[in-house]
Amino acid sequence: MLLPPSLEEMIEPHHPVRVVHQVIEQIDIQPILNKYKGGGTSSYHPKMLLKVLVYGYLSNIYSSRKLESALKENIHFMWLAGMGKPDHNTINRFRSDRLKDVLKTVFGQVVMLLAESGHVDLKEVYTDGTKIEANANKYTFVWGNAIKTNKEKMAKQLEELWAYTQQVAKEEFEQQVPDFTAIDPNQVAQTIEKIDVALQDKPVNKKVKQKLNYARRHWPAKLAEYEQKQAILGERNSYSKTDTDATFMRMKDDHMQNGQLKPGYNLQISTNKQIITHYSIHQKPTDTTTFIPHFKEFKKLYNQLPESITADAGYGSEQNYEYAQAEQVTGYIKYNYFHKEQKQAKSKTDNIKDINNLHYSKEQDTYYCPMGQPMKRVGTKNRTTANGYQQSYAQYKAKNCHNCPLRGSCHGQKGDRIIEVNHRLNQLKAKARERLLSEQGIKHRKQRPCDVEAVFGNIKQNKGFKRFMLRGLEKVEIEMGFVALAHNLAKVAT
Ligand code: SF4
Repeated sequence: MLLPPSLEEMIEPHHPVRVVHQVIEQIDIQPILNKYKGGGTSSYHPKMLLKVLVYGYLSNIYSSRKLESALKENIHFMWLAGMGKPDHNTINRFRSDRLKDVLKTVFGQVVMLLAESGHVDLKEVYTDGTKIEANANKYTFVWGNAIKTNKEKMAKQLEELWAYTQQVAKEEFEQQVPDFTAIDPNQVAQTIEKIDVALQDKPVNKKVKQKLNYARRHWPAKLAEYEQKQAILGERNSYSKTDTDATFMRMKDDHMQNGQLKPGYNLQISTNKQIITHYSIHQKPTDTTTFIPHFKEFKKLYNQLPESITADAGYGSEQNYEYAQAEQVTGYIKYNYFHKEQKQAKSKTDNIKDINNLHYSKEQDTYYCPMGQPMKRVGTKNRTTANGYQQSYAQYKAKNCHNCPLRGSCHGQKGDRIIEVNHRLNQLKAKARERLLSEQGIKHRKQRPCDVEAVFGNIKQNKGFKRFMLRGLEKVEIEMGFVALAHNLAKVAT
């Protein structure tokens, strides 16, 4: 070659790398620029680094060292970076530090661009969640329940020691019994000291002496450690020591059909036409609790909520229905037993155990049991969900169940049958059922698996992104932002 070829000519006109370049060129990166202090040596342009990272995630190159190599060997990366060669440290610093709290804004801008060009519609979204493994060791776990049990054991033993001391040193030990229900390191140390003083010069059982010595040496430090761990746990029940933000979650079965408990994050996405319109990362494994935070973030990002949301039964809770209704969003959200209910309605089976098959008189606020006897309201039970949401259950009680010929097939309770009914939830479910069975509802339900589940299939199976590279919630959010951007731009390119 007499003259060096131009890289520009070597890139095909519709190659995805051109899409990445075009789209990132159009966005406003001021939030990222604000993260640069100014002064010092000149830095690589953030738009270039952003393009390199997005194209890296699009080409399944996630590690900064591999990206550094690609920038020297791969013509697409070389063209994208304008022959710039940032090293892995620069790439990593940009990804982890500069993009903290701002990548979501960049993502939102890209989605808005795609909405303007008709690739995506923000008014109708399909929402679902999946678990993605954290970059953490699955054997370095901390369990909240184990800490709770150990603390309870410690408190019980301390109480026993106190009782023993009261017996042995009656005269010297007329002290008020401490509260052993909420022990802390200081209180334990002081209690042990008091016991020590009281038992001085007293004939003490050898085992008690040993236990007291052990308690003095270990318990205050152990309690301090438990308190520290509980602070990290927050409202969760577990975490991994290698990534303390990751919670142990049940992942999908492996190829040997083994259910797997691994540290991970709960990823929630909303899609339209298989393009991700919003993503959020959660530390709790249940989808029900993620719905409201996910859509609050959506509203913050786009200053609007979708007109309709379609989701599976994992999201059908009273609190979520109330939220959608209050925000005037049409929710095509299934609830537990929606399909079972439809099957029963078709087969017309009459299971007398099922509360839904009992007749209810709204005027008299009375249920009628299968024998036609009235079940009067006897009280109300309030329950609080894991989210802290208050639910109210009305209780109705039957009469004379012990003489009833239907007793065996009707219920398994000891006395007369008591049923608990959440009227508010039933009303919301009835409205949801109506929407789900409407023409629009059926259309959206059919579309949901092809829309949002296909995106998970692409990310996890086709691209092989099943485990995060980075550690910590903030960094994992950034990584997911790149996965989502890369997915969307690849979709546009095809
Ligand atoms: S067992 Fe009790 S609730 Fe059931 S049908 Fe008989 S009387 Fe009614």
